[in-house]
Amino acid sequence: MRIRAAVLEQFGQPLVVQEVDLAEPKAGEVLVRLVACGVCHTDLYTASGADPTGYAPCVLGHEGAGVVERVGEGVTLVAPGDHVITLFAPECGRCVHCLSPRTNRCIAIREQQGLGYLPDGTTRLSRADEPLRHFMGTSTFAEYTVMPEIALAKVSPEAPLDGCAPFACGLSTGIGAALYTAQVEPGSTCVVFGCGLVGLGAVIGARLAGAGRIVAVDRSEARLAQARHHGASETRLAAADTVDWIRAETGGYGADYTFEATGNVVVMRQAVEAAREAWGLATMCGVAGKGELLEIVPRFLITGRRVSGSSFGGVKGRTQVPQLVERWLEGEIDVEALISHRLTLDEVNHGFELMEAQDGIRSVIGFG
Ligand SMILES: [Zn+2]
Ligand SMILES: [Zn+2]
Repeated sequence: MRIRAAVLEQFGQPLVVQEVDLAEPKAGEVLVRLVACGVCHTDLYTASGADPTGYAPCVLGHEGAGVVERVGEGVTLVAPGDHVITLFAPECGRCVHCLSPRTNRCIAIREQQGLGYLPDGTTRLSRADEPLRHFMGTSTFAEYTVMPEIALAKVSPEAPLDGCAPFACGLSTGIGAALYTAQVEPGSTCVVFGCGLVGLGAVIGARLAGAGRIVAVDRSEARLAQARHHGASETRLAAADTVDWIRAETGGYGADYTFEATGNVVVMRQAVEAAREAWGLATMCGVAGKGELLEIVPRFLITGRRVSGSSFGGVKGRTQVPQLVERWLEGEIDVEALISHRLTLDEVNHGFELMEAQDGIRSVIGFG
């Protein structure tokens, strides 16, 4: 079928919206009609050429939500008409990592996905007989996509699909970091560095976990206001003395849990140093630049602080994303407040501009 899609032709250049060909789903694959897709920093990161694993040409986009249109042979996990959220982090349910409660790092289709192919090593995307690679196994800046069934989370049909889109990446990443990676204990003190969608998600996750104090740190007053709306009990403009201030506010010890959601390694170091002596846990959610290193003075670790990374918030996609969507439907998460701009597919490059200008929290593309 012919579909419209935003293609990354060349690194550092605007995406080009154009017609491309999409083949029918093969065994274990699903054709999804996209209804909405968020514009995430990782799309911009890859488009800029900064991502060392990036490739072009490909169809970008990975924060999609839509409706199952057709299924390939042997598909049992979803059926036509199901509402789904796309998962760049699949959940096969069988691999060594899926069988462990400690991680969401499914390895079932990793190798081919990382190269831009579906699990059988081919693409369903093409134009004029030139194959076009898939991005993050999702390629959701498009009217339709073909994805493996293990990479789709079936969600309640009651949930508006434009609000579902942020759960495909940024929002679940933040909420999950608090609920699943850090497993925040009720009554504890949390500090969140950076109040973009991931950081606000961590604020929400800390609130859902019953944290006693949630401190949000950012350079923007507008974002700190957002953080208060979503559950931060205290906010602070980022400054050189942020770590000292957090220690002073916590009896000299530091916070039980810190979350880094900026991708800046200097801020990551602050998150480690602001974590409490003896049991503080610093969770890194941001993606650092190529070749950058996180500096940690070993004394901070030997005195009991711990550091953890978190990919997609440790969320097991097919199992736990639908649960997070239920909490939204129950009124525990204000998704609407996180969607700052609504765009068409043709405006996808404007979505990148808004992100670079730190204008708003999330732009969501709607497909007619
Ligand atoms: Zn993302
Ligand atoms: Zn797996």
